[in-house]
Formats: sequence, structure tokens, C-alpha cells
Amino acid sequence: MSYSYVSHLECPKCQAVLEVTEVQQLCACGSPLLVRYDLEKVKEHVSKESIGRRPTSLWRYHELLPVSAKENIVTLGEGWTPLEKMPQLGKHYQLSNLYIKDEGIIPTGSFKTRGASVGISKAKELGVKQLAMPTNGNAGAAWALYAAKANIKATIVMPVDAPAITRKEVFISGGDLHLVDGLISDAGKIVGKLVADKGVYDASTLKEPYRIEGKKTMGYEIVEQFGWNVPDVILYPTGGGVGIIGIYKALKEMQELGWISDNKLPRLVAVQAEGCSPIVEAWKNGETESAFFENSETCAFGINVPKALGDFLVLESLYHTNGCAIAVSETELLTAQKLVAELEGNFICPEGAATFAAAEKLRKEGWIKEEEVVVCLNTGAGIKYPETVELANIPTLQPGEFIER
Ligand SMILES: *Cc1c(COP(=O)(O)O)cnc(C)c1O
Ligand SMILES: [Zn+2]
Repeated sequence: MSYSYVSHLECPKCQAVLEVTEVQQLCACGSPLLVRYDLEKVKEHVSKESIGRRPTSLWRYHELLPVSAKENIVTLGEGWTPLEKMPQLGKHYQLSNLYIKDEGIIPTGSFKTRGASVGISKAKELGVKQLAMPTNGNAGAAWALYAAKANIKATIVMPVDAPAITRKEVFISGGDLHLVDGLISDAGKIVGKLVADKGVYDASTLKEPYRIEGKKTMGYEIVEQFGWNVPDVILYPTGGGVGIIGIYKALKEMQELGWISDNKLPRLVAVQAEGCSPIVEAWKNGETESAFFENSETCAFGINVPKALGDFLVLESLYHTNGCAIAVSETELLTAQKLVAELEGNFICPEGAATFAAAEKLRKEGWIKEEEVVVCLNTGAGIKYPETVELANIPTLQPGEFIER
């Protein structure tokens, strides 16, 4: 029995096949690469029941992850996050089966950790000594921390106005942090030059094939946590789209493995902020690729991605599952964030809050029915974003003053 049944890399655009035993970045045609497994062997050697007895970490799916040797795994105990029902919020939205998949409770405070754990483990296995990436914050934080554990030098470039906490996470890990007085696209150009000149490993979103594999475990977990059943709808806050591409990939793998039925997939929903909604525009027009979204702006910085490299894969996942794409306003997502805290006691991140705002809208439109099983993905902890909450009307007492009621 092998620890992993990884077999090769495949280009979803030109079908080129590449080795997993060497460093690979994009396909020569410019497309991201997808990891393929010998699923027949997995079928032979692994059962749903045996997975059920394993430790509660994303590495319980190791045969379906790309790391060949167990000793290369870099882990902080990530994964198997809670899938919880939200009865009070569900009542408010008229959704009798509303769930949260809660990535607020994971090392580094965002689901970027899944991609970092698998991506860094594979980089270690491939002998990488230095990596570089542009980031809006959370990915850089997660990759810098896991890189520290793996003794890999991490050069992280982020905009000066990225959230302070993520800068501090990189700094404290000893990461090689650089700030740029510009956007993530400017950070990307700086990283591109370093990669071209120095041969540093490019860990930019989708430019290495393994981050998707970490994120796909959210799909495996949701299905396993429902007793190997699929929900009706999964709403995902979409920026670079790695998470939704990963969840879709997991669902298709599980179908091939015969672990879920062939005739029903959850409808996948890409949720974006109105201030940055290139996927929504493309989906409305039935396009297979998105156009660059000019002057993008949203407080949900993790989904401020004006043009995603994997946009065609995101759109495919929506079309193939009869899903949709929807944008919510800043007011709608902040209102949802407050409501989730007030009704369910959970301080979620603004990106995650966008999925709840979207669930409410789709319920009102009738696109989601009252009884359907709906999963909203909360991709991070609200406490990483203190500035999104504005305090109002807080009474201040002098010593000797008391509360009347
Ligand atoms: C990066 C990020 C997203 C978007 O993730 P993708 O998988 O790249 O679409 C959503 N929420 C948070 C908190 C993020 O950090
Ligand atoms: Zn290709």
C-alpha cells in the first residue's frame, strides 16, 4: 500500500501530461496544472470506513494528496473543521437546513492553511529551498509560517495596505517580507522577476499545482461529515477560485471512486463582492473566461481578485453543477456578519459573511428552497479583521457611576 496514489499532472487546457517528481509551475500553454491519482488503486486499498477511523486532520485523505512520503508532511494539525447547523439564522432566512463549514477554527485563522500545509509539504519533498509569492495577506501568512516549519525561505510581497495582522504573521515567522506601494498585481510583477532571475519556486496562486489539493479537502470533509452524502448547495467566497475549484475536483474524484452517487452533485455558488465581481459578470453572460475587473474594492480583501488565472475552471464548476454566481454589496455582507454573531455566536470573516448574504438573496429569489441542505463556507476568523467592525453607542462610565438596568 502506498501513502499516496498520485500519478501525474495534467493540463486542463491542452491535456499535456507532466511528472510529479520534478518542480512544475504552469503548463507551457499558460494554464494551471491539475494533480491526477490512480483512483483504481485507491478504490482497491482505501474505504470510506477506514478513513473514518483516522485522525481528524486533512491528512486523513493522504492517498488522495500529492505527498509520497509521510515524513515530508508539514502539519500544524489543520483540517476537520466544524460543520455546524445554524438554526436561529436559518429560521431568520427561512432555510431549515443551513450549515456553516467553519474555517475560522484552523491554524493561522484562515483556510489558506490547507493549501499551505499541502503545498509546503510537496515543496519540501521536491527539495525546494526558497519560494516567493504575492499575496493580499492570508496566503502569505500561512505559507510563511509553514515554510518556517519546513526550513524553506519564504519571500512574501504584499500591498502596504494589506491587513496588519497578516504582515505580522509573516514577520514573526522570520519570513522575507516586502511591502509594495501598489496592488497585488504589482506584487506579482516583483515576484515574477525574482522567479525569472533567480529560479526561486513560484508559489503564486495556481502557479504551483498543489495548493488546490490542500483546499479540495474541504470538499471531502463536507461530504464525510454529512455521512458521505452531498448537500444541495455549497456557497463559496470566490477570489482566485482555488477553493471552489478544489471542492469541485474533490466531488468528481469521489464520484469516480464510487463514494458518492453519480447523479447528484451539490449546486456550487461563487459568491463575490459587488466591488470585485469578474466571475459574476462572466457567468451572467455565459462566458467561459472572465475579464479584468477595473478599480476593484471591497473590505473582504481575500476576494479582491480582479482576474483569476483559474477563472475558466471556476466557471466550469458552476456550469457543470447547475450552480450560479452572485454578488453582494458591502452593506449586505457586513449586515450578515453581524447577524451571524448575534444569532449564532460566531464572529466570522467578511468573505465568509458574503456567503450568508448570498444565501439569503438566493432564498428570496426562490433559487434555494426552504428544505434544501445549504452549506456556507466561512473561510476565516472574524478576529483577523477587527477594523471591519465599527463600535457605536457604547456607554462610558466614570468610576462611581453604575448601570441602571
Ligand atoms: C483567499 C481567501 C478567499 C478566496 O479564496 P480562493 O479560494 O482563492 O477563491 C476567501 N476568503 C478568505 C478569508 C481568503 O483569505
Ligand atoms: Zn497546457
